[in-house]
Amino acid sequence: MADIEELYQEIILEHNKRPRNYGPLAGSTHQADGHNPLCGDEIKVSLVLEGDRLRSIHFQGQGCAISRASASMMTEAVAGKRITEVRRIADTVLKALQLHGPDLVLERDGELASLLGVRKFPARVKCATLGWHALLAALDGQQRISTESAGA
Ligand code: ZN
Repeated sequence: MADIEELYQEIILEHNKRPRNYGPLAGSTHQADGHNPLCGDEIKVSLVLEGDRLRSIHFQGQGCAISRASASMMTEAVAGKRITEVRRIADTVLKALQLHGPDLVLERDGELASLLGVRKFPARVKCATLGWHALLAALDGQQRISTESAGA
């Protein structure tokens, strides 16, 4: 068990250090600013939607390692997918991050499984869910979301 936790920790640190799909997104059609006042994380998510597909997604902002790593993994997990699939993945991750939520597993869910470590630290869960709430807000045409009003 210690080994998998170490691996998960490494994945998070690596995404924080070299975030994927980071920065402004040219031609973005949807954007939302996510705010987690408990930690001070600010994550902006920008999307290019094309028909029923999420053509591309970027994020930017200031935040702790977990908020950045989660948003970075999120962009890799959902880019290029159909909107219905994007919502399904977001729903799966948000449920999994709840205290007694269903597990994510490395073999099926890839690096996203590394986020499960935060369940042991309830104060950090909102750091991990922030980017996902911002993604859903952007899909719904909302421009701002706070973890304190998202029921996160
Ligand atoms: Zn945070």
